Amino acid sequence: MKNRAVSLHSSSDVPLIEAVDLRKDYIIGEVVIPAVRGASLRVMRGQFVAIMGPSGSGKSTFMHLLGCLDKPTSGTYCLNGVEVSRLDDDELAEIRNRQIGFVFQTYNLLPRMTALENVMLPMTYAGVPRRERLSRAQYYLERVGLADRMHHYPTQLSGGEQQRVAIARALCNDPILILSDEPTGNLDTRTGEEIMALFQDLHRDGRTIVLVTHEPDIARHCERIVRFRDGRVVADQPVTDRLDARAVLATL
Ligand code: ADP
Repeated sequence: MKNRAVSLHSSSDVPLIEAVDLRKDYIIGEVVIPAVRGASLRVMRGQFVAIMGPSGSGKSTFMHLLGCLDKPTSGTYCLNGVEVSRLDDDELAEIRNRQIGFVFQTYNLLPRMTALENVMLPMTYAGVPRRERLSRAQYYLERVGLADRMHHYPTQLSGGEQQRVAIARALCNDPILILSDEPTGNLDTRTGEEIMALFQDLHRDGRTIVLVTHEPDIARHCERIVRFRDGRVVADQPVTDRLDARAVLATL
């Protein structure tokens, strides 16, 4: 892959993610649903972490907290040394847009926009001038292997191609953190493996990635597996039998 300078923003020993005793209660009428019940996680810059756990164990809620999409009921969350758990909604939106790249299971592309326009959109919000938006979007679409699909609309793309557009969009503001919730959940084995090859390339470039998956073979592409149960972290272990996506692809 071509290498554009990846800005890692700072190289100190401060953890990129330092979440301590996070709780999130959802309140529906008079019912309190404790979705995350005192979860702590530290992630250093450049790590590639999988989050696993049964359905309903709080993984998505925890990712929402890490992504500043929601605020914890209690606990503290420092992102890149900044305590974000107490910021107001506008400040959180700013951090989401400039510092975090999201990749979801359902791609979340805007149907009336081409691949190129979808990738350019977050840069519009970040105030990047048009010429720069265009060149960055083209660069990242090339990087994910879609040089010849830039002017296609989402319905004209396969699931794997749409996920590549979503990854290019996540990268375009040069985020310090990439968060991904079940990125291969809607893809067949080969296409899922291709997406994991892309994530492994990003990791090799020095990106920090936290990825939720319920598939053990997907988690084995990461460096570390954090397991959730009942809203808490119950295990946190390095991956000893790591899979290399390109080696797996060669066998398919
Ligand atoms: P997972 O991602 O591990 O499947 P979730 O974080 O989605 O788990 O859910 C954890 C718990 O919180 C579940 O009991 C779920 O029903 C509840 N929950 C999740 N989102 C909401 C919400 N927006 N409102 C109310 N309850 C929710």
